[in-house]
Amino acid sequence: MKSTIVIGGGIIGLFTAYYLNKAGREVIVIDKTDMQVNTSTGNAGMIVPSHIIPLAAPGMISKGISWMFSSKSPFYIHPKLERKLLEWSWLFYRSANTKHVEKSIPYLKNISLLSKALYQEFRLEHADVVDLEMAEKGLMMLYQTAEVEKEEIEFAHLARHHGLEAEILSPSDIAKIEPNLEVKARGAVMFPGDAHLSPSSLYNFLKKYLAAKKVTFHSNVTVQGFEKSGGKVSAVITKTGRIPAEKVILCGGAWSAELAQMLGFKLPMMGGKGYSFLQENRPKIQQAAILTEMKVAVSPYGGMVRFGGTMEIAGTDESINLNRVKGIFESINRYYPGFESKFPDKEQIWKGLRPCSPDGLPYIGAAPGYQNVWFGTGHGMMGISMAPGTGKILTDLHQGHASTMDLKAFEVGRF
Ligand SMILES: Cc1cc2nc3c(=O)[nH]c(=O)nc-3n(C[C@H](O)[C@H](O)[C@H](O)COP(=O)(O)OP(=O)(O)OC[C@H]3O[C@@H](n4cnc5c(N)ncnc54)[C@H](O)[C@@H]3O)c2cc1C
Repeated sequence: MKSTIVIGGGIIGLFTAYYLNKAGREVIVIDKTDMQVNTSTGNAGMIVPSHIIPLAAPGMISKGISWMFSSKSPFYIHPKLERKLLEWSWLFYRSANTKHVEKSIPYLKNISLLSKALYQEFRLEHADVVDLEMAEKGLMMLYQTAEVEKEEIEFAHLARHHGLEAEILSPSDIAKIEPNLEVKARGAVMFPGDAHLSPSSLYNFLKKYLAAKKVTFHSNVTVQGFEKSGGKVSAVITKTGRIPAEKVILCGGAWSAELAQMLGFKLPMMGGKGYSFLQENRPKIQQAAILTEMKVAVSPYGGMVRFGGTMEIAGTDESINLNRVKGIFESINRYYPGFESKFPDKEQIWKGLRPCSPDGLPYIGAAPGYQNVWFGTGHGMMGISMAPGTGKILTDLHQGHASTMDLKAFEVGRF
C-alpha cells in the first residue's frame, strides 16, 4: 500500500501523523533536520483559546513602525528590499483592519477550543506514560501602563462577548496568585480557560509514540520536489531518492512557501523569529503570564521557568540577535523585580521561526489544483495551541470526510 507522506516533523506534522495513524493509515514523516530541537520544542507551550485576534489587526502597523526603532522591541519587520517580504508586508497591511479581525474571531476560537478539548483527551489517554507538565490554571495578561490596561480590558470584554471567560484583576488579586514574589503591575486580565504545557515533553512523547505505532520517520531528508501529473502527486523527491505517495500533507512551517513553489503556486509565508530561555524559578513564579507591554511569555514548570518572546519578521534567517534576547531578559525584573534572573549563555538560548501568514490565519486545507495534497501550516504564534485541531481536521479531509468546522478563512489558495 502506498503511504500518506507528511512533510515536516514539527508539532503540526506530528499531530497530523497521530490522527492519521489512529485512522489506520500508513504514515511516513519526512523532515530535513534531525528533529531534536526546533520551533516546536522551545516555545512557551501555551494553549490559548483566548487568543482570538489575529496578528494582522488594527494598531499593529503603527505599533510595528514605532517598535522598528528599538533593537529590543517585541515586534520587528526587517526593512529589506526583498520581493517576498514586500509582498508579505503589503498583504499584512491589507489585512490589518477591523473587518478582518471580526471575520477571523470565530475561526480562531473554534479551532482553539477544539484543540483544547483534544489536548484534554490526549492527556487523559496517555497519562500513565507521559507527564506533559500541563497546567490548566489560565493565563494572566499583566500590564503596567494605562494605555495597555485600556486595550486589555477592551479585549476582555470582547472575549466575554464571544463566550470566553475573562476576569479583571487588581494588584492585590495578583499578589494572591503570586504569593512568593512582588509583581509590578497596574492590573491584569486572567483567562481561566487557557493552559500551558512543556512543548519538548509533548514533542518527544509524540515522536516516541508514533515510532512505536510504526509510523516511519525519515529525518535529515530534504524534500526537493514532487512527481506530479493530472492534479496528483505520485511521489516525493528527496536528495536520496523518490518516495511513492498516495497522499501528501505539507506541514513545513516557515519553509512552506518553498514547498508550495515546488507544487507551482504561491503561499505567502514569513518566519517570525523568537527566542526563549529557561531560568531557575527563584522565588517561584506560579502563574503562566504574558508581560503585555513587552509581549514576553512566562511559562513556569515547577523548578524552572521559561521566558520567551520577540517577533522578528525575517524570512527563514535563524541567526541569534542578542539585543532582542536582552529585551526579553530585561522584561523579567521590570515585572518581577525580586526574581533572581541570570542572562543565559548563548548555547542556552533557543530560537524558533513562527510560520506567519500575512493575515494571521493558518492555511488548512487542499492545495489548489491538487486532489491528493493538503497543507497545514501558518499557525504563527499559536502552533502548539492549534496543533491537535489541525491534525484532526487534516485527517478528516484526507479521509474524504467533510470537516465539522467551517474552514473557508483557512483556504490555502486565498492569496
Ligand atoms: C518564542 C516563541 C514562543 C512561542 N510560544 C507559543 C505558545 O506559547 N503557544 C503556541 O501555540 N505557539 C507558540 N509559538 C509558535 C509555535 O512554536 C509554532 O507555531 C509551531 O511550533 C509551528 O509548528 P510547525 O509544525 O508548523 O512548524 P515547525 O515546528 O517549524 O516544523 C516544520 C518542519 O518542517 C520541516 N521542513 C520544512 N521544509 C522541509 C523540506 N523541504 N523537507 C523536509 N522537511 C522540511 C522543518 O525542518 C521543520 O522541522 C511560539 C513560537 C516562538 C518562536
